[in-house]
Amino acid sequence: MCGIVGYLGKRNATPIIIEGLKRLEYRGYDSSGIAIIPDKEIKVYKESGRITELERVLPTPKESSSNIGIAHTRWATHGEPSKKNAHPHLSHNGKIAVVHNGIIENYVALRKQLVKEGYEIVSDTDSEILAHLIEYFYKKDGDITIAVQNALKLVEGTFGIAVINQDNPKQIVAARRGSPLILGIGDDEFFVTSDVGATIIHTKQVIYLHDNEIATIDRDGYEIITLMNNKVEAIISEVDWDISAVEKGDYDSFMIKEIFEQPISVENAFRGRLSEKLSTTRLGGLNIPNSELRKVKKIQIVACGTSWHAGLIGKHLIEKLARIPVEVEYASEYRYRNPIIEEDTLVFVISQSGETADTLAALREAQAKGAKVLGITNTVGSTIARESDGGSYIHCGSEIGVASTKAFTSQVTVLTLLAILLGRMHHTSPTDGLRYIKELYNIPDKIKKILDQNDKIEAIAETIKDSTNALYLGRGVNYPVALEGALKLKEISYIHAEGYPAAEMKHGPIALIDESMPVIAIALKDSIYDKIISNLEEVRARNGRIITIATENDDRVKEFSENVIYIPDTESIFQPLLSVIPMQLLAYHVAKKRGLDVDKPRNLAKSVTVE
Ligand code: GLU
Repeated sequence: MCGIVGYLGKRNATPIIIEGLKRLEYRGYDSSGIAIIPDKEIKVYKESGRITELERVLPTPKESSSNIGIAHTRWATHGEPSKKNAHPHLSHNGKIAVVHNGIIENYVALRKQLVKEGYEIVSDTDSEILAHLIEYFYKKDGDITIAVQNALKLVEGTFGIAVINQDNPKQIVAARRGSPLILGIGDDEFFVTSDVGATIIHTKQVIYLHDNEIATIDRDGYEIITLMNNKVEAIISEVDWDISAVEKGDYDSFMIKEIFEQPISVENAFRGRLSEKLSTTRLGGLNIPNSELRKVKKIQIVACGTSWHAGLIGKHLIEKLARIPVEVEYASEYRYRNPIIEEDTLVFVISQSGETADTLAALREAQAKGAKVLGITNTVGSTIARESDGGSYIHCGSEIGVASTKAFTSQVTVLTLLAILLGRMHHTSPTDGLRYIKELYNIPDKIKKILDQNDKIEAIAETIKDSTNALYLGRGVNYPVALEGALKLKEISYIHAEGYPAAEMKHGPIALIDESMPVIAIALKDSIYDKIISNLEEVRARNGRIITIATENDDRVKEFSENVIYIPDTESIFQPLLSVIPMQLLAYHVAKKRGLDVDKPRNLAKSVTVE
């Protein structure tokens, strides 16, 4: 949540920062602001709404010319989205400006103390108190780094912050705990950002700050210390992707670009990880010898949102192929319910960003209980990647659209590889293993075939775009896909949608079905095909409008469907990788037809780094 960009160098900071902020808009977009020091004094410009609104209130390029600046695009946690609550926040004397990502959990107590000391609090945010606290300590000994350090020692909660101080207009102080923050090292210039994508056009040399580290950057270099005052030897990493990964190209939104990237992103998730010779898969990063993996008696998968749906598919596949029991948990619940972790239990956490606050906390909870925790994430250098005991990258490239699409299919691909790997250690024969591997090579082409039906799916979207509700049905491994389809529609089109196992429908939701209720059903040719057909007959008997996702050449479904989207036949374990594609396209087109911004749905933000 929220994006931070800072610049210090010889160039004019303002346009560099505004451009970077726009690249971070996916992280939060309810208000934004920038603090610069064009002359001797800090100037702050803020506005509610998107970055374009902020641009409108900026003064002329000459007036806003500054070699230093920090900025923020907000996803409100405390205090409504408004100009007043937008960051940066100024300290009492107006000489220190702060941007903050995260939550100050003890802000009420700290605010009380500050008010007692005579500080006037002007916003409703938790973040503002940081500015005053830093001023309070700065006044004591005149060292901004020590002031930040002292202030942060009092803070409970999470933070990624950048601070500027008008007494020293050539210095930025940045610090983090729980929220991502990266230092970009350019040619005689420095950047501070929540995501490398914001500044990748300027530099690929980055330092990922760790929790409780404070970086002081000035024109000659940087120094990093910890909250406990130890010196840190920073490691500079080279980002291995470039600007095209964070640009829309010819597409009108990141979401549609990312949907269409899936033939490649899925292939990237399995490339180099298949062994035809041994009829199995390889996941090198797991960091667990096969002998140990073979002993695993139970698996827990912990995740949030779309990643949780991927986890449910993982459960299905692992239990089917390896007969190892799998529990799938919401990270936000897991971390607070004192989970039972027995010996020989392996825990997987899944997070596209690798920064999801609840998932990270769940990882730490499981580790504290002695479990080995493996991460499935997209983001190299992310906190989950660093803190887990091993894991697997999904390699889908930057995902910018807030509604996850390609990260989902890549997570499912990695979980499928894991299921095959574990399966081959237990119940899956070499013949089956080889058949799976050969079919996996065909999946990208099969995804392409579904994407080729984009126009048809757009036409179907037209028929449901004015609905107020929708029901998504699937069974077996396609039940989580129904959940994911419903989530996509909710997220970006604001139509209420629910996913259900098809047979459960008669225990409640069937009461909702009438001629205005679209029912999107996955009815693929597999062992439960006849069962789901019976469930759909029940919908038709109540005049529900059925859109069926069916296997190519299945004519039977036409009898009761208003529309059919055909997808290629495949092994049942790979069905989710195909059946979810029409769901994504349908949600996308419905949202577009309703005139909505698919990349930045209201109230949402990508990478949920607050709890
Ligand atoms: N808690 C802060 C606020 O509500 C920061 C939120 C964010 O990370 O964008 O302003």
